[in-house]
Amino acid sequence: MKQPTEAKISAVCPLCGATYHEPPALSRTDGESLICPDCGIRQALDSIGVKPDEQEKILNTIHDSIRQNKP
Ligand SMILES: [Zn+2]
Repeated sequence: MKQPTEAKISAVCPLCGATYHEPPALSRTDGESLICPDCGIRQALDSIGVKPDEQEKILNTIHDSIRQNKP
């Protein structure tokens, strides 16, 4: 599948208020709001029954692995 050319993104997440630069996620709660990737992950984890404190642990793990992959 061909990916569209990614423009530089700078948007503010309506859920957590963070400015993000990654492609946004679609909110699962209303199906139309664009939210930051972190909140997208939170909602995905929430939908499978992961508790909020577990969600933050998983997000920290994801952030750590992203940092390690960057120069
Ligand atoms: Zn957010």
